[in-house]
Amino acid sequence: MTKPPEPTEKVLVSACLLGYRCRYNAEILEPRKIPEPVDAIVPICPEELGGLPTPRTPSFFEDMQTGREVLHGNGRVVSEAGEDRTAAFVNGAKKTLKIAKEAGAKRAYLKERSPSCGCHTVYVGEDRVPGIGVTAALLEENGIVIISVE
Ligand code: SF4
Repeated sequence: MTKPPEPTEKVLVSACLLGYRCRYNAEILEPRKIPEPVDAIVPICPEELGGLPTPRTPSFFEDMQTGREVLHGNGRVVSEAGEDRTAAFVNGAKKTLKIAKEAGAKRAYLKERSPSCGCHTVYVGEDRVPGIGVTAALLEENGIVIISVE
C-alpha cells in the first residue's frame, strides 16, 4: 500500500513577487523564483486586502516610526499628498495574518522596502531607512518567519 503524500506546508508570498499587478504603480515585476512547491504558495497583497486600489500613489511612514510602531498606534502611514492610510495598512496586515493562520503558514516571502511587506528597509518620506513594514511586523509578532526578497 502506498503512503499518502505528506501535506505541503503553505507559505505566504507577496503577490507582486509572483507577477501579479498589485504594486502601487501597477508595474508588473519579473516573477521571482520562490524555492517552494507551486501548490504551497499563497499569494497575498496586504495593501489590496486593506482596500487600497491599484494603481495608488506611494505610501510612506512618518517620523522614523515604522511597522511595529504603527501596529501599536504610535505612527502613521501616509500618501504623498498626506492622506492618512494607516487604517488600510493595519487592516491589510490583519487580513493577511488571518489568511496565514487559516493556511497554517509558518513562513512568508515578502517584498523588501514596501511599507507593508518590507523586512529590513522601508521609506520614511523619500529616505530609505532601517525598519519593517506593517504586515511584516504583524506576521513576525505572531511567530511567522519573514524572508526578504528583493
Ligand atoms: S509589496 Fe506587498 S503590499 Fe506592495 S504590492 Fe507587493 S504584495 Fe502588495
